[in-house]
Order: sequence, then C-alpha cells, then structure tokens
Amino acid sequence: MLSENFKSGRGMDGVGIGHSEIVRFFESRYDSKMDIKKEIKNRGLPIVASVSGGKDSMAMALWLREEGFEDSNPVYYVWADTLWESPETYDYLRETVEPLHNSGKGSFHRVVSKKYPEGLAQAAVMKGAFPSRRMRWCSDVLKHQPIKAFIREVNEKHGCLSVNAVGIRAAESKARSAMLEWEPGSILGAKLCEFTWRPLITWVIADVAAIHARNNLKPCGVYLRDSLPAQRLGCHPCIMSRKDEIKAISILHPERIEELRELEEKVAEVATERHAKKGETFESLGLNRPTFFQGKDGTGECWPIDKVVEWSQTTYGGKQMMFPGVTKDGDHEPFIPVDDEEKGCAMFGLCIDRGD
Ligand code: SF4
Repeated sequence: MLSENFKSGRGMDGVGIGHSEIVRFFESRYDSKMDIKKEIKNRGLPIVASVSGGKDSMAMALWLREEGFEDSNPVYYVWADTLWESPETYDYLRETVEPLHNSGKGSFHRVVSKKYPEGLAQAAVMKGAFPSRRMRWCSDVLKHQPIKAFIREVNEKHGCLSVNAVGIRAAESKARSAMLEWEPGSILGAKLCEFTWRPLITWVIADVAAIHARNNLKPCGVYLRDSLPAQRLGCHPCIMSRKDEIKAISILHPERIEELRELEEKVAEVATERHAKKGETFESLGLNRPTFFQGKDGTGECWPIDKVVEWSQTTYGGKQMMFPGVTKDGDHEPFIPVDDEEKGCAMFGLCIDRGD
C-alpha cells in the first residue's frame, strides 16, 4: 500500500497529487511489497544520502557501506550547512564524517544556500526577521533548497532520478512512526527523486549504537558530554530548542548567546528601518521586536535571548517565566510545537524532530 499521505494528496510531489490517475500510475509501477534494496541495487540508481553528523544519519551511511551500496551504486553523502551548528558538530563533521564518507567509493558534499551563503544569521538580517514555528523558512532556504539543487545536479550527471536516503527511525517520534520505508517521488519536489528511502525506519537506538561499535566509531561529542548531553543535533540553537538545550548552550557556549544578542539587535534595526520607510513602527503595527525565540501560543510573543537564558536556568517548569497566554499547567516547553502539522521540516530528516 502507498502512504496514506500520498493517497490523500497531502504528501508526495506537491502538485496534483492524490488524484486517482497519479495513484494508479504509482500503484501500477511499484508493488508496495517490492524489495526496495534489490530494486535500488539492481537498477544502480544514484543514492543521495542526507547527512548531518547526527548518530542516525551516520548509522545510515555506515549501513549503506556495509550493505555494499557504495560498490553497486553511485553514493553521495550531502550535508546542508546552516553555518549555525555547534563547534562540536563542525569538529565531528571535519574530523570524522567527511574523511569517512570520502574514504570509500562514496563522496561527501557540503552544500549551502546560494542566496545566503553565510547561513542562518545572514538570512535573518537580510530578511529583517527570524524564522518562527509557523514561518519556518530556515529549513527551506538553508536545507531543502541547497539539497534539492544538489540532487538535480546528480540527476543530470547520471541521466536519471536519484534515490534520497534519509536516516529516519520510526522509534524517534509519533510523526516518524507513521512513515514508510520507502515512497515513490520526493516530498522535497516534483520530478526530483525516484524514491524517498528510509532504510533505518525499523531501527531502535541499540541498532544505531551497534553499528557505531562495529565500525569502531564514536558519535559526535555533544551526545557524550558528562553534563547536559544533547539528544539531537541541529542548529545551535534551533528556534524550537528545549529548555535544557538552551541551558547547555548558555553554560558551554556563552559566546553563542552573545552572538544571538547582537543578532537580535541587528535584525530589529533592519526591521525598524523597513517599517520607518512606510511611516510605521513596531508599536504602530502592533508587532513585537523580532527575537530568535517565539512562543507557541500563536500570539507572536517574543522573548529576547537574555530572558530565554534566564528562564532556561529556572527549576522544573519555570512557570514564573511563562509566556503570557501559555497558561496550561505543565506546559514547560514554550518553543516546541504541539501540533503534528507544524513539525513539517522534521519529515525530511534534515531538521530536529520535535515529536519527542
Ligand atoms: S534545525 Fe531548527 S533552526 Fe535549524 S533549520 Fe531546522 S528548524 Fe530551522
């Protein structure tokens, strides 16, 4: 059976999907019981594997090599750099991920946004706004677009559509548990990929640990910190960070908090100038000054970084620092979306999945 998302028209390939002709086309072309490994191998399709330095994408890359895909298929490991990762992540990518992926027959590729080559901070200043949970342009412009452009290059080189391999595991979250091992096409764009493939979909954390151990590889140091270890990799911080992640950054990397303070000033300056050109101000428009973190109550409530850091140090709940409007008892993570529809970027395996 094809994915319910695909069938209902909410899922794959963006245009005209879900209508009966397209569903029939894929149902006639692919049997859902098809052995996807064999199909990809036999056809020698190019594989573009999205990697981040995280434990799951590393496990997927190790598995592709163990299973011989680097011998049978052209394999490209692609990493979209937001230029907003932690120093430990950059060290791990430079010292471990890149050399490993270049050591076999596959190859490692770093891609960045063409429009914002200096990454997230540059994009925020140029836009005069930060991304938010509802306007999550960061995933799109800094990850999806550069990866799509890279996949198109690979397709052109090989004269066929690629397979996009994604290191997603069902056990990670409710949203991911609804995903299939493979689907025709790509949620990233029409006519981009032959398949979206999630070879680790049934893996549990023990499988991820085992493949690292078998290959004598340690995961990124952020997972192994004695104090405040990270559970996931991603932007440092992500706009949807958990309280303990913000606390870890403020203690271990106070320079990033300083950077954020300056960035909030710069973005607010740009926004002020833009409003002034129209004879408006934040006050006249009823808007808050832009900040990196915005609450999930839908009012656009913004907290400056110093207030966020202060809240991150509070004991359980920190209710005294809750956003106005976020009144539900026990609701202590104001930046994490509650609605599955809002977790879109995680579906690509490129951004933090906040379904946890
Ligand atoms: S990790 Fe977070 S901040 Fe970074 S691109 Fe994804 S959603 Fe945006």
